Amino acid sequence: MQPIEQSEHIDEKDLDLYLKARLGDPAVSAIDAHLGGCRPCVDRLAERDRCLAYLAELGSDESPGGVEKRAYPRVAIDEPAALQILNPFSASKWDVRIVDVSRGGLRTHTPNPLTPDSLIKIQMRFSVSCGDVRYCIPAGNGFHAGVRLHDYFFR
Ligand SMILES: [Zn+2]
Repeated sequence: MQPIEQSEHIDEKDLDLYLKARLGDPAVSAIDAHLGGCRPCVDRLAERDRCLAYLAELGSDESPGGVEKRAYPRVAIDEPAALQILNPFSASKWDVRIVDVSRGGLRTHTPNPLTPDSLIKIQMRFSVSCGDVRYCIPAGNGFHAGVRLHDYFFR
């Protein structure tokens, strides 16, 4: 590792806390401001996301081979949420509706199209989750996007 310029960028530890939504608003705002102008840190954030999701998957008690991974039922809901795109990074937040959820994912109605494979953060009333966009199709006066949520925690 190179210690040079390290202090000017976001700590790996803070990137983890940011993804896990364990930081207060001032820290999140500071990181948002940095990510808005620092492509390398956005790449590192995406890398930490993959790493944390992978570690959580390794630690989960699901049988190897991922048998029955999609067997969880979808539940229709209608919840407001704030959606932010983390990679490619944007500091703006969209007001969206969550239309259904399942254990590993959700479907959201958005005013604007989302690009498949983008990393996003979704803030609902009682939770904040990161995930990646699986698909996005026109629906009504907006779009429906399927999101696979990333679980950073051992189950
Ligand atoms: Zn940086």
